[in-house]
Amino acid sequence: DTSSNGSCNSNVQVVVRVRPPNQKEKEVGYRKCVAVDLSAQSISINLMPHPRTFKFDYVADEQVDQEHIFNMVGKPITDACLQGYHCCLIAYGQTGAGKTFTMEGPTAESEASVALMPEFQQKKGLIPRILDYIFQRMAAEKSKDMEFGVKCSYLQIYNEQVADLLDPESTNLTIHEDLKAGMYVEGLQEILVSTPEVTYGVFRKGSENRHVGMTAMNQESSRSHGVFTLVVESKHNVGGVMNRRISRFYLVDLAGSERQKHSETVGIRLKEAGSINKSLSALGNVIKALVDISEGKERHVPYRDSKLTFLLKDALGGNSKCTLIANVSPADKNSEETLSTLKFAQRAKLM
Ligand code: ADP
Ligand code: MG
Repeated sequence: DTSSNGSCNSNVQVVVRVRPPNQKEKEVGYRKCVAVDLSAQSISINLMPHPRTFKFDYVADEQVDQEHIFNMVGKPITDACLQGYHCCLIAYGQTGAGKTFTMEGPTAESEASVALMPEFQQKKGLIPRILDYIFQRMAAEKSKDMEFGVKCSYLQIYNEQVADLLDPESTNLTIHEDLKAGMYVEGLQEILVSTPEVTYGVFRKGSENRHVGMTAMNQESSRSHGVFTLVVESKHNVGGVMNRRISRFYLVDLAGSERQKHSETVGIRLKEAGSINKSLSALGNVIKALVDISEGKERHVPYRDSKLTFLLKDALGGNSKCTLIANVSPADKNSEETLSTLKFAQRAKLM
């Protein structure tokens, strides 16, 4: 890879996805402010007086469907997970830009009726496709000398507090680092799963808890980070010696990256906006530091600056793979947020 941004050795991949205009945008006379060049993997934003172009590892326009996103983005990182790398797949972007659609597909939260339609399968997002693929590959590779096991957990980070979405009673769990086992969350439920359907059921249940819990606090679930984690264990018998390997795969639907309007940002909203801002900028700083290190610079990586980056430490740095999907709206009324998302995404790749 000889990409012009000089980050060819980085284990961080940055992808941009533009969603189609929605009904509302079309009704109010929507104007497109972005243009994707699929052959150059670049995106231009027409923000006068300074149109700008950004280049990424992969750019998907509104025509690119869920299956293609899986093949380009989901499959390679899942392969890495099955090879033993800790991985994370992170959806970034303003609320409404398509993070949840990309990660899970149409949900009860967005379009309940779609679930009943035949094209639902086509609209399945990355998480259900990744689950299908993991179990399919494990079944294919299982033998008398090769065994696999999968566990899953699901947590939320809201206002710098970690809660177990599979145990709604839990509050403010602590993240620890074990020298041997790596990062873990004390008291977090891990559920042993053996089919993609059961695993996705656990995920849906946790998402429902996330939504209900946040609504009860008068908050939107888009103000918290959702982290669904798969723990994949393989046991390989090599001439009587048991090789045991554990990799964690974090699937992250981040809080909306939009800036809160100043006048509305008081009280709880102010604290919330501060927490979101803190973790998203910490994420940007960590990724940037890792890219610098991969280019031979000496840098301190500020994992401890937020709960999110501390939790993801093993999957961001070291022997790991991370893919960031920056989701953007095509509409001119969102151009400021789109520009800020593209800048965030670019910062993760540039020297
Ligand atoms: P976010 O999670 O970033 O707040 P959503 O994923 O909920 O955004 O997307 C907002 C709306 O746009 C939803 O109704 C969703 O179904 C739709 N949408 C997002 N991305 C796409 C896409 N690529 N194709 C079709 N519809 C999309
Ligand atoms: Mg969402």
